[in-house]
Amino acid sequence: MSFIVAIDGPAGSGKGTVTKLVAEKLNFITIDTGAMYRSAALEAVRKNIAPDDNEGLKKMMDNISIELKKVDNVQKVYLNGEDVTKEIRTPLIDENSSKYSAIPYIREKITPIQRKMGENGNVIMEGRDIGTVVFPDADVKIFLDASDEEIANRRYKQDLERGMNVTYEQVLEDIKLRNKNDSNRAVAPLKKAEDAIYIDSTNLTIDEVVDKVIEIIENKMKEKNI
Ligand code: C5P
Repeated sequence: MSFIVAIDGPAGSGKGTVTKLVAEKLNFITIDTGAMYRSAALEAVRKNIAPDDNEGLKKMMDNISIELKKVDNVQKVYLNGEDVTKEIRTPLIDENSSKYSAIPYIREKITPIQRKMGENGNVIMEGRDIGTVVFPDADVKIFLDASDEEIANRRYKQDLERGMNVTYEQVLEDIKLRNKNDSNRAVAPLKKAEDAIYIDSTNLTIDEVVDKVIEIIENKMKEKNI
């Protein structure tokens, strides 16, 4: 028996941080589904397979191995056995993951892996389509949102801390484009599930969001006598 929490929302809404903190407090397993789409995009970019090369993408996806593993308490991502945890977090892969994740065959291959990963234990899965497509029967569904400007603000600060040479305007444009693409694609778009609880984090601290999410999960667990 597993208890599944789905957290969906746009890039930069704080899903990743919130998921990690909530999981640590409640002892849940986390599954970062974006890392899987990022890995597929990295493989396509490395092999020079264009988004419209159906044959090439099919061959690539039929032979790909993507694994999420915790090593020494650090979450790692492996693409065909290689640790790509760092390589998948670059502006190039930000943009390409959004392009390649819109391709139906890529989603067809990745979605079942995610369902399998959620089969055992208490899990928080974060992404774009978890509450709508991957686990429409999730025990708890949360849609975490924030304004584009606030998202860009947070991302801009992070980028500066990492020593990147960017402007706020650039970051805002990238965020807007990626979230627009994710929301408007034909298959599994970023969308609030009807029964998801909406949290706008624009004017909340991370701790405030974490407390809200924990309260929602604990209430549901009580209701289910878990
Ligand atoms: O969550 P993250 O920003 O790392 O996701 C990278 C990209 O992967 C997103 O912009 C989106 O295009 C795609 N994605 C998706 N479905 C998910 C998770 C991520 O399409 N469940």
